[in-house]
Amino acid sequence: MEYEEQRAQLVGSLKYYGISNKVLNAMRKVPRHLFVPEVYRDSSYADTPLSIGYAQTISAPHMVAIMCNLLELEKGLKVLEIGTGSGYNAAVMAELVGSEGRIYSVERLEPLVKFARSNLEEAGYGNVEVILADGTLGYPQEAPYDRICVTASAPGTPGALLDQLKAGGLMVIPEGHIYQNLYLIKKKADDSILKKKWGGVTFVPLVGDNGFNFGSKP
Ligand code: SAH
Repeated sequence: MEYEEQRAQLVGSLKYYGISNKVLNAMRKVPRHLFVPEVYRDSSYADTPLSIGYAQTISAPHMVAIMCNLLELEKGLKVLEIGTGSGYNAAVMAELVGSEGRIYSVERLEPLVKFARSNLEEAGYGNVEVILADGTLGYPQEAPYDRICVTASAPGTPGALLDQLKAGGLMVIPEGHIYQNLYLIKKKADDSILKKKWGGVTFVPLVGDNGFNFGSKP
């Protein structure tokens, strides 16, 4: 089966998670096989995470769909992603915010910054900027953001990310070490925070100054 047909089949199966048509249509457009290392290309349209090297993974398609759905992404929004990895989630978000919007994506491992940049270029996503930095500090240069998407699991919500979220903005973030939960956070107009648990998930750890510290620097 051709990649396009496999992709259509995979995206069709995601509707059972209650994902909006808007998100499903965006995922129908993004060629996930361009974000997967060549050796795993034939598994690109299985609903599973895959290794991208350096002990990191590209998230399973259903997880990307769930996060994008919770974020209620719209055309023209400015989004901060922490944990670029392959660049795939950034590409799906880029489809959703369109050419009027922009994605700033922070990654701490240099080889993955290069991998993501070349994947995004090949797939034609010019509205994503990939930054090499510790994302637990956010990316103050372009703050505040309409949306923040954290794709690695944190010990708690980094204060810098809350500070850089606009009033009325939404953030999704997995928290926990062995047992993790995904949270949807809303910053209300008066800057107070609403935090809602979505459910159990499995992500690689968020490592950094306001994240887990396993005693190693890249
Ligand atoms: N969103 C990615 C999947 C990311 S896996 C995709 O679509 O492919 C999580 C990523 O978070 C890994 O690449 C890891 O290196 C990165 N990461 C972990 N801690 C980080 C930090 N403090 N700042 C930025 N990136 C971090």
